[in-house]
Amino acid sequence: MQSWVAIPENSDFTLYNLPFGIFEHPTDGPRIGVAIGNQIIDMYQTAQLGLLDSTGAPAEVFANRYLNDFIALGRPVWARTRQVLTELLQEGNERLQSHQNEALLPMESTNMLLPVKIGDYTDFYSSLEHATNVGKLFRPDNPLLPNWKHLPVAYHGRASSIVVSGTDIHRPQGQTMPADAEHPDFGPSKRMDFELETAFIIGEDTELSHAIPVREAEKYMFGMVLFNDWSARDLQKWEYVPLGPFLGKNFASSISPWVVTLEALEPFRTTCPEQEPAPLPYLQSKKNRTFDINLEVYIQADGHEETKICTSNFKYLYWNMSQQLAHHTVNGCNVNIGDIMASGTISGADPNSFGSMLELSKGGKEKIHIGDGIERTFLEDYDTVIMRGYAQKGAIRVGFGEVKSQLLPALNTDHH
Ligand code: CA
Repeated sequence: MQSWVAIPENSDFTLYNLPFGIFEHPTDGPRIGVAIGNQIIDMYQTAQLGLLDSTGAPAEVFANRYLNDFIALGRPVWARTRQVLTELLQEGNERLQSHQNEALLPMESTNMLLPVKIGDYTDFYSSLEHATNVGKLFRPDNPLLPNWKHLPVAYHGRASSIVVSGTDIHRPQGQTMPADAEHPDFGPSKRMDFELETAFIIGEDTELSHAIPVREAEKYMFGMVLFNDWSARDLQKWEYVPLGPFLGKNFASSISPWVVTLEALEPFRTTCPEQEPAPLPYLQSKKNRTFDINLEVYIQADGHEETKICTSNFKYLYWNMSQQLAHHTVNGCNVNIGDIMASGTISGADPNSFGSMLELSKGGKEKIHIGDGIERTFLEDYDTVIMRGYAQKGAIRVGFGEVKSQLLPALNTDHH
């Protein structure tokens, strides 16, 4: 498929992708946009031109601060919208092209906003390699806890502090217990880390007491984003027993602005890792229910070039998204449009694929080289973390763009 829009080589935003996001219109406030090449399609403007009538979506739904109302129109409307856009963008179709000055704008001319209103956020822990690597640091003889291969472990996180790519993050302060100390210390975290994750966004509300069957789970997913679960390892270590992550995690998580639909990811289906022992029947899903998505992490020290420090893949996850959602709701827990379900850190078997500095530096014991002779064990102030993701099959490329944020020094350090 060729488009009349110039699409640079290796662009994440091809005609096969068409991800949805919210952009800040220069004069008219937030609107729904669709990415193509280096351009954003202003969906409200396109609808006003009468070009989206056959989608069944009213024009007003595109002049919105969040995608939630559009998502609520349902899967047939999402699919028709992508179908209509695919036709409008193809070479030879002039219906949108003749209005491109009004209906398209360059990406660099605007800011992207948080794409959905997030009611609830859950973070899974679904990479066998990550759980084993981290478990080894805490329990060398018994890294994997007995429940891990029987259920997708998760915790309920904090929705209010999820921010869009480009939002700077301040180093958190909190309590830590230094080795050999008798009393806890207070101050800025000394072990700031990222976690390479993806997340799926819920596309349909469920009623309380309704369990989503594993085979139907994808029908309840709108799309996926990249997710950086910022983590203060020293706060986490002191606080996590007995109830799990709290202030070491909830100060910020960052997501990429473009939501890639599951429909766009369809060509990249692949098999999941073998599950042994077999999970209980309510978690048994088809083996091909995952996607081959390349994932990368780059670190950029202030004033330096970015350097890749991790190359991983979504397909490494032991538990797939359908199993996660089936487990999440099997007790009758309801979900709502806009809820975010993060994967957990995605590490593979190769040390280059470890998705956190905790793993890459073996718990802070080994230096990570980030170019120009600079080394890190954990993040320093003014470091920028960039995560990218894309799927590719022959000429077909579908990418996520990036989630990129800079770590700034702690605020209010005079309070303690
Ligand atoms: Ca996490």
